[in-house]
Amino acid sequence: MFSERLKRLLVLLSRLPGVGEKTAARYALFLLAADESLSRELGAEIAALRDRVAPCSRCNNLADRPEDGGAALCAICTDNKRDASILCVVGRVQDLFAIERAGTMRGRYFVLGRLLSPLEGVGPDELPMDKLLTLIERERVREVIVATPPSVDGEATALLLKREIAPRGLRLTRIASGVPHGGDLEYADPITMGRALAGRQEL
Ligand SMILES: [Zn+2]
Repeated sequence: MFSERLKRLLVLLSRLPGVGEKTAARYALFLLAADESLSRELGAEIAALRDRVAPCSRCNNLADRPEDGGAALCAICTDNKRDASILCVVGRVQDLFAIERAGTMRGRYFVLGRLLSPLEGVGPDELPMDKLLTLIERERVREVIVATPPSVDGEATALLLKREIAPRGLRLTRIASGVPHGGDLEYADPITMGRALAGRQEL
């Protein structure tokens, strides 16, 4: 049914999350019918993605990699209007995006990259705690908001953060459980996320 070339594209597209065979075919046919610049630009951006985007050297959010080879800094870390005394700790970049969509977070972030997972053998040493604690000291953070998901791993991570951060005498809060238990923050709508943030409680 499909040409070999088309088949190759469909196989690649179906490897993306949420894209099945039908959606892959829809995308491919759309690209063939749309203005040629769309597939050219899309292809060029995807090809250069790994070279151009890197983790932010301060918070691990995704950032543009500077052409001079210097340290990458994300759009939030370079935004002077952000309140540096508030630091929101999340597990994954997707969670940062979910909180940003709510539009009420005035502070900055720190992305752990993974959650503590006793079941999967991810221990405290595998989390960037030293980097986080150094940042808290250096930037004189006054409140740490723990925004890990309300899952077993998310709660375990929150407890670890409490153990490490509480002795430093700053305000430590946890987002309210407005997001469903076991659920991903990624799928919380902005209003629910905003409420979860506003209703945060002392940890
Ligand atoms: Zn950053």
